[in-house]
Amino acid sequence: MDSRQFTSEPSSNDAVERDFTAGDVPGLRSPGPGADRAPLMFDVIIAGCGPTGAVLAAELRLHDVRVLVLEQATEPVSFVRIVGLHIRTIELMAMRGLLERILEHGRQRPAGGFFAAITKPVPKGLDSAHTYLLGIPQPVIVRLLEEHAVRLGAQVRRGCAVAGFEQDDKGVTVELADGGQLRSRYLVGCDGGRSTVRKLLGVGFPGEPARTETLMGEMHLGAPQEEITAKVAEIHETDRSFDLRPFGAGIYRVVVPAAGVGDRVEPPTLEDFRQQLRAIAGTDFGVHSPRWLSRFGDATRLAERYRVGRVLLAGDAAHIHPPIGGQGLNLGVQDAFNLGWKLAAQVRGWAPEALLDTYQAERHPVAEDVLDNTRAQVELLSTEPGPQAVRRLLTELMDIDEVNRRLIEKITAIGIRYDFGAGPDLLGRRLRDIDVKGGRLYELLHRGRGLLLDRTGRLTVGGWSDRVDYLADPTAELDVPCVLLRPDGHVAWIGEDQQNLEDHLSRWFGEPADRFA
Ligand SMILES: Cc1cc2nc3c(=O)[nH]c(=O)nc-3n(C[C@H](O)[C@H](O)[C@H](O)COP(=O)(O)OP(=O)(O)OC[C@H]3O[C@@H](n4cnc5c(N)ncnc54)[C@H](O)[C@@H]3O)c2cc1C
Repeated sequence: MDSRQFTSEPSSNDAVERDFTAGDVPGLRSPGPGADRAPLMFDVIIAGCGPTGAVLAAELRLHDVRVLVLEQATEPVSFVRIVGLHIRTIELMAMRGLLERILEHGRQRPAGGFFAAITKPVPKGLDSAHTYLLGIPQPVIVRLLEEHAVRLGAQVRRGCAVAGFEQDDKGVTVELADGGQLRSRYLVGCDGGRSTVRKLLGVGFPGEPARTETLMGEMHLGAPQEEITAKVAEIHETDRSFDLRPFGAGIYRVVVPAAGVGDRVEPPTLEDFRQQLRAIAGTDFGVHSPRWLSRFGDATRLAERYRVGRVLLAGDAAHIHPPIGGQGLNLGVQDAFNLGWKLAAQVRGWAPEALLDTYQAERHPVAEDVLDNTRAQVELLSTEPGPQAVRRLLTELMDIDEVNRRLIEKITAIGIRYDFGAGPDLLGRRLRDIDVKGGRLYELLHRGRGLLLDRTGRLTVGGWSDRVDYLADPTAELDVPCVLLRPDGHVAWIGEDQQNLEDHLSRWFGEPADRFA
């Protein structure tokens, strides 16, 4: 199949799916010969079952959307990258009833001191019920998220790579690497930094190429223990970038700069590690019997668009940056929470006109900000005199609690405020997990629906009750009369007037059931 894109004019009789607007898709064309060839088998096909794809699948299933996740790898990843879940992601896990299960597998650490690795205490007054960092192996969190999606009814097919697609006004025909074809209404590329979907879409991915690469792996060492300990201590006294630490059962985790920047298609060899260890440490520690070997770069790039017609991008497919501050997985998972309910609304037919486009409007600036803070952190870690002077200055400034807090709020993503127009500061922010009548707020969001918290007891969600829950007299902790929450926990409206509420219910949740029917 030709993997170029076919797009078309909006279909005037397609009342449910108001997807395209003129000028929305560059180079509008008529449906190609492949359009309508296969029946719609799924509502959404997701390319990639990493953390982003798994969360998106689960979020869509909360709304009964027929989801298929295609994952090119036959087995889950074997290499253990320990990632940090930051406060906002931990909150989102609590919001879907997943946190207890995840906490069992992670280690809680203080939610401070990780901006450019500048050692500082946790800032005072972080506005969350979950003020910690959760260290957890990436394969474990991915497994838990995938299990959650499957439990909710998502299908996952392993050993199945997306190799091409065509889109038309009714759906997307997805071509698999084995030559098979599938058809769905939407396709979402959650297929990582080298995203096939993004490349086939022709979406630009501007930014800075990798300047350095790092080798990381787990292996046995042949050198005597005393020699290892002494050598590691000696190198840590210098500013050489290197890490070597025991990982249990005689295995060591080795992190060392690569000799240069390659195309990273091929994994590194043990010989690459030996060579670099000799260059950095003066010995290769007798490394042998590797468990896994990998490499990563420090490229920084952001997709120009997150959506072209019926095809969308999320997670690393949309943005990449160095792992400083541990934000990539968090950012992707949060993309998926933002997109899930909106795409579900589109599929179910109740999405207001521009809802799906708010995904890019809200998430692109967030990614821009994350890319900027990682650029800043990279500079602050440089050993050059200029950046070192800036680092000393910032270290001093971070003694001011508000400066420290602002930086931690940025990395933990609890400082995000989407632009919903003029209004109180709370509008557009997420609400923390407060005590409410009969339990905790986030327990009321497990089903991924909207929620009206009404302290006046006078308002009603009326014709939107199939999409929005209601709680009267919720809590004294809320210092405003009423709050409308979106399924991702962001505050969509604050007020006390029924008509004004209904305008905002329409804005976010479409027409009331009687009109919609
Ligand atoms: C050393 C290191 C440390 C890190 N530490 C942290 C941290 O502490 N915190 C944090 O938040 N982030 C961290 N990250 C970043 C994090 O690992 C990534 O941001 C995260 O994995 C992105 O998730 P994703 O689901 O978007 O993409 P991926 O995890 O890359 O998943 C993409 C999936 O798509 C599949 N795929 C690819 N192409 C196709 C195709 N054509 N068809 C079907 N399937 C396909 C792949 O096999 C893969 O399973 C770190 C990264 C590195 C390198």
